Amino acid sequence: MYRFGNTSLKRLGTGSAALQKVLHRAMEISNERKGYTPDWGIAEVLRTQKQQQDRYAQGRDDDGNVVNQAKVITYCDGINNKSYHQSGHAVDVFAYVNGKYNVEPCNLALIATCLMQAASELGMTFEWGGHYRTFYDGCHFNLKPTAAV
Ligand SMILES: [Zn+2]
Repeated sequence: MYRFGNTSLKRLGTGSAALQKVLHRAMEISNERKGYTPDWGIAEVLRTQKQQQDRYAQGRDDDGNVVNQAKVITYCDGINNKSYHQSGHAVDVFAYVNGKYNVEPCNLALIATCLMQAASELGMTFEWGGHYRTFYDGCHFNLKPTAAV
C-alpha cells in the first residue's frame, strides 16, 4: 500500500488544514488506482518569504529582470506577488518509480488526477502547475483562495 513516508508527512504538516485534507484523500485515491498510478511523495509545502525570494532570484538579475529563462522557476517575487507556498496552500509532489525520485510528466499527470479528484470530492478548487500557460510546473498544486480556508 502506498503511504506518505515520515519526511513527506513532516512537510505536509506545514500546510493548511484544507491542503492536508486533500493530500490525504489523494493518497487514498492513488491506492485505489495502484495498478496504473505511481507511488508519490511531497517535496515541499510551506516556504518563508526569504525562500520564495531566493527562488525568484534564479534566472534574474538584481532588478528582477529575466536574464536566463531556462533557470526561471517562479513568477512570484514573494512580496508583491506571493506564492501559495507562503501561506501553506501549495504543494510540490514527485513520483517514486522503482524506489527513485521521478518527475516525468507522464507520472506527474497520473498523480495529478488523484489530487484533482480529491479536491473536487472535498468541494475545493485545486490548480495544477501542469496546466499553467506561462510555463510547465508539473510538480505543483495549489488551492484557490476561495477554498483556502
Ligand atoms: Zn510549487
